[in-house]
Amino acid sequence: MSNSTITPWVVGNWKMNPMHANAFQLIQEFKQLLEHENIAPEQCHIGVAPTTIALTSIQAQLKDAARTVYTVAQDLSRVAGTGAYTGEVSAELLKDSGIEFALVGHSERRELFGDHVEILKEKLHHALNAGLTVIYCVGESLDQREQGLADQVVLQQICDIAAVVQAEQWQNIVIAYEPIWAIGTGKTASPEDAQAMHAKIREGLTQITSYGANMAILYGGSVKAENAVELAACPDINGALVGGASLNAQSFYQIAKAFAQSK
Ligand code: PEP
Repeated sequence: MSNSTITPWVVGNWKMNPMHANAFQLIQEFKQLLEHENIAPEQCHIGVAPTTIALTSIQAQLKDAARTVYTVAQDLSRVAGTGAYTGEVSAELLKDSGIEFALVGHSERRELFGDHVEILKEKLHHALNAGLTVIYCVGESLDQREQGLADQVVLQQICDIAAVVQAEQWQNIVIAYEPIWAIGTGKTASPEDAQAMHAKIREGLTQITSYGANMAILYGGSVKAENAVELAACPDINGALVGGASLNAQSFYQIAKAFAQSK
């Protein structure tokens, strides 16, 4: 059952893009769009997830934006605190730099960098314990969908984390449903298919946590300005995790506007 009081989220995942000068330009353009016609924070949370090396500079650039735009880490270490872990950035280091949000479990991390379930549980556990809000990504492959396993796979990915989330911490989790076959491919799940999966995720969440009815469930997978309005109209789609289209300020702004106006 959907809850229309959930404030939507629109988060841009920049992945390993862009170069410094283009990132600067992108943020300036986005800030100008907000200055020209603002999107009220109570209508839509907005965040951008730059590369780790750009997190603090983007955050500094966003300080004078016309509204709050969160800076989100794309990933974090499976190890907590500080120590001899070359190349790693822990939840505590993110928090210490003023970063309050992190993605965990993006399919590119799962598929390309070996983030299996035990690693994801450690990342999630440390992120939540450090006080971060986590956008936890789930989604099935094309093969799994064609075999009729999509619901089972996605619900299992949610159950996977239950053991490391304390009762009160569920309110600090946002779910992003991203069918792998729709990421970066230009293929979007139809609004009907996406809504059906979101409703199942919502049902699963309500069985696990009393916060389930109020948790935001974002859709991700080739979201663009052109398809955002119909996705935003679905009752259980509470926002979008946007890859490619978030690298264009105008497209990203239009997507945020679509969700802000939908609820
Ligand atoms: C993503 O990387 O989370 C994503 C949804 O990418 P795209 O919008 O490019 O499909």
